[in-house]
Amino acid sequence: MKRRDFVTIAGAATLLAGCGEKQCDTQVSGSVASSSEVINWTMVTTWPPGFQGLGTGAEYLAEQINRLSNGRIKVKVYGANELVPALQVFDAVSSGSVEMGHGASYYWKGKLPAASFFSSVPFGLNAQEMNSWLLHGGALELWQELYSPYNIVPMPAGNTDIQMAGWFNKEIKSMADIQGLKMRIPGLGGEVLKRAGGTPELIAGGEIFNALERGRIDAAEFVGPYNDLAFGFYKAAKFYYYPGWQEPGTTLEALINQQALDALPDDLQQIVKSACLVANADMLAEFTRKNSEALTTLVQDHGVIVKRLPQDVLDAFQNISEQVVAEQGQGNPLSQKIYQSYKAFKEKSLSWREISQSL
Ligand code: CA
Repeated sequence: MKRRDFVTIAGAATLLAGCGEKQCDTQVSGSVASSSEVINWTMVTTWPPGFQGLGTGAEYLAEQINRLSNGRIKVKVYGANELVPALQVFDAVSSGSVEMGHGASYYWKGKLPAASFFSSVPFGLNAQEMNSWLLHGGALELWQELYSPYNIVPMPAGNTDIQMAGWFNKEIKSMADIQGLKMRIPGLGGEVLKRAGGTPELIAGGEIFNALERGRIDAAEFVGPYNDLAFGFYKAAKFYYYPGWQEPGTTLEALINQQALDALPDDLQQIVKSACLVANADMLAEFTRKNSEALTTLVQDHGVIVKRLPQDVLDAFQNISEQVVAEQGQGNPLSQKIYQSYKAFKEKSLSWREISQSL
């Protein structure tokens, strides 16, 4: 029975009983409580089922919605390819075939180039700054405006923290070592590497290890120590470089179908959104702890050599990145507005970062 039908019947029963408004309070609320229906939602994700940190982050979000709503909403989570392939999550939520999705907005940059700003861009905002820009810098409203024509309400729902520059089978001493370097690095980071003289390769997460071990590629970036240790990349490459210039603080997203959200009573709408913010904070806390533990394991147990990319390489990547990132903010007026908001926020926050993070 739909909630609306029930409310009508409850109202009719009240009228038939002929009781006064005050007397009926107990009766009506008692009836509503006893037959309140459970709203069942489906969440599709871009992650392999149960994938640590990201897939488990989606499951954590579903659990929070269930618990905060006192069981009134139950969300069932499906990993990539269980219901729809990873890259069809956006369309599935947009069409309303599912109520929710969990992914990262840069996956949709083919459709919406400015979407990259809401996950991570090279030499962009760190995790703390992403949260600040989204929640106190007007960016969440711009993100919602960007997804609105697609019938989707986005919410931040996790952050991996800064990633690592990646695994290399040889030492990187200068820009000369970047020339012809075949590296698994997707998205805007890949475009930067290409313009710097390297060859970006598009390889799915599960196939990186074989490509690196067999020498089909010279280097690969994936996430950070937590996820990279689990994939065993240290067995295929010896040098682990930082910092993760290509993804300085990647925000994960929850996608909510607009009609499904609108159909909820006000308190449940707020509970769904608040659960996203709880998951958002929890994932960053988890990654910070697990990354530090995994890095220790990589160095102490597996003899990994951790190195910082040479400054001339970072400087060259940064110069190219500024151009590549600016290109994402061209096109229609909304894209330009998003880029201008990002740029203005970054310029202001950088001067604070330089002072506050110098301890
Ligand atoms: Ca990455």
